[in-house]
Amino acid sequence: MSKGSKKDRLDQIKAEIIKDNICPDLAKQATQLVFGDGNPDSDLVFIGEAPGKNEDLQGLPFVGAAGKFLNEMLAMIGLERKDVYITNIVKYRPPANRDPRPAEKDEFLPYLKRQLEVIKPKLVITLGRHSLNCFLPELSISQVHGQPKRYSGQVYLPLFHPAAALYNGAMRQTLIDDFAKIPAILKQLKKK
Ligand code: URA
Repeated sequence: MSKGSKKDRLDQIKAEIIKDNICPDLAKQATQLVFGDGNPDSDLVFIGEAPGKNEDLQGLPFVGAAGKFLNEMLAMIGLERKDVYITNIVKYRPPANRDPRPAEKDEFLPYLKRQLEVIKPKLVITLGRHSLNCFLPELSISQVHGQPKRYSGQVYLPLFHPAAALYNGAMRQTLIDDFAKIPAILKQLKKK
């Protein structure tokens, strides 16, 4: 067991991203590092792609339109942001909201994995294909969304990304239906 509270250990990882000069080109253009938000003692961790404009300005993940939709879905299952932990793979905003590049995801992945080692969630919920494919590269989100997958001792629930689903009626409903499965999946995991 490492020393320090979970918060201290997460703060340490955040400081290391800066000290290790991860993705300096992204860092230069970003307002700030967007590390994570919420409760590090939660059983649930949500992982998105990368910060957008609002996230970059506020220093918090999922605070724009996609974040509002995420908050609504959390409320639907009786949770608030303070009950879960939310982060992204890439922790600086990519310019003009372009997709994160493979090299950028690779640079940030070890730090994301360390965040998970500290938090030790029962369930990791990946939002979108980038997040899913960081952990389970061979799976296709259109085929496995809403189905829990166990890999190397960790259970993942792949979901569509709220930003992609926001303005697409069919995908939006699928995401809402998949999201509604979270309490039952978690209950099952807590029994073990
Ligand atoms: N989309 C993401 O993937 N992450 C955020 O923090 C906001 C939007």
